[in-house]
Amino acid sequence: MSFTIQQVLIPVEQGYDTVDVQIGHDPSEPDEGHRITAIGADLDVVGTIVDGRNKLLLPGFVNAHTHSSEMWQRGIIPPVPLELWLAELYDFIPLNEEQVYLSALGTAVETLLSGGTSVVDHLVLIPGKELETVAAAVRAYREVGIRAFVGPLIQDEPLTSGIPDGGTAQTHKPYLRSTKATLELMQEVINQFHKPETGINVMVAPTGLQLCSDHLFEGCAELSDRYGLCRHAHLLETKAQKLLAEETYGCSAVQHLKDLDYLSPRTSLAHCVWLDDTDIQMLAETQSTVVHNPLSNLRLGSGIAPILKYRQAGVNVAFGCDGSASNDSQDLLEAIKIGSILHNTTDFEYQHWITPRESVEMAALGGAKGLNVQDQLGSLTVGKQADLVMYDLTNLSLLPRTDPIGLLILGRPVNAVSYAWVNGKAVVENNSVVNVDLNALRQALFNQSQWSIKRQSPTVAEVEAHYRSVMQLPAFTQGYS
Ligand SMILES: [Zn+2]
Repeated sequence: MSFTIQQVLIPVEQGYDTVDVQIGHDPSEPDEGHRITAIGADLDVVGTIVDGRNKLLLPGFVNAHTHSSEMWQRGIIPPVPLELWLAELYDFIPLNEEQVYLSALGTAVETLLSGGTSVVDHLVLIPGKELETVAAAVRAYREVGIRAFVGPLIQDEPLTSGIPDGGTAQTHKPYLRSTKATLELMQEVINQFHKPETGINVMVAPTGLQLCSDHLFEGCAELSDRYGLCRHAHLLETKAQKLLAEETYGCSAVQHLKDLDYLSPRTSLAHCVWLDDTDIQMLAETQSTVVHNPLSNLRLGSGIAPILKYRQAGVNVAFGCDGSASNDSQDLLEAIKIGSILHNTTDFEYQHWITPRESVEMAALGGAKGLNVQDQLGSLTVGKQADLVMYDLTNLSLLPRTDPIGLLILGRPVNAVSYAWVNGKAVVENNSVVNVDLNALRQALFNQSQWSIKRQSPTVAEVEAHYRSVMQLPAFTQGYS
């Protein structure tokens, strides 16, 4: 349905303008495709009228890296580094599709209500129910109406092999699924679920070099080329991963990914904390995207990603929340705020610091670039698809009136998204998601969980002593496990 937003504030070069924005569709295109057809003062009304007075219109942001089913473990994993955190996480991943569906719904709702209109779900699969897992998440995303990029999280090496062996020649059990079976699974996921015209995109997303063979990365790159899919992976999130790459390949992980031909303009890489200047140059040359997950990096003690260096080198940067067990939220505006001001502590040259308008551009256009849809999304431009968010500037958290984008990015907006559209379809109206019964969602999340403080993770017990030794931490008499 076409509509016209009247008298809404939009950012322009010199400040802000009050304009009308027309959203319509080209009759020659399928009805799905609603685009921005005009932006200007006092436009003719097309379709229904949306009152934009005292509201700020921005392109929808991209939650460019998350793992939806981690929502079932938010708040519970103690403050430990990634390698131990992962060991615990995988001992307690959801085991049924209903939970996957509910956490995808929850992730989508929190993303929409904090300015995101697209989500990249690096989706943890239930062993033996892989296609059902993807089906459950896709069902949730289609229902809520968010644009989703679903990258089944695949690996072909066991979790313990993600820790450097430090010269101790560790042996590992084989992974539960072979490389060949994993690539066949991806082929089936693509066949069944990759439908960009419905807002559901499949991406290839091997979890990272630390848990994947070269053959798996090459197979994923090949599928990506054959079907035009985006590529995703974790990259150098921790110091242990940097040591592991040097141990395994005798070069940096980035060099190895480049040698595997995995880096490209449609490749987005989560975290990127432990890269050196040569690595950064390679990301710039291959036009790869860094997905910045500042809260997760802080929560897991992974480090501060050199975001200002990426920007100076011309590397595209987007923002992600990361999964809810390492954040432990899906508040995209919070991730953008922390991910912007955190870096002021890393460089005394304040001219390198990220301004609120640059944060908006990274979150919207930067996110779109990382998904290779910058021609379609990411800015208020006539002809682009209508993935839009309208913020209520009379909301208490955005008052008193100063610079709207400054208030949004540097402040702590609470329930400030009054409308959101994906492809021209309303997904948030009057500060509420349109297609989801929030009370029913809350009830289901409540009913399927319990208050809990301490669990025993067998995998942590297995790997903790070795992790401490490799990271040159003193041996312990009593560990976290
Ligand atoms: Zn992640």
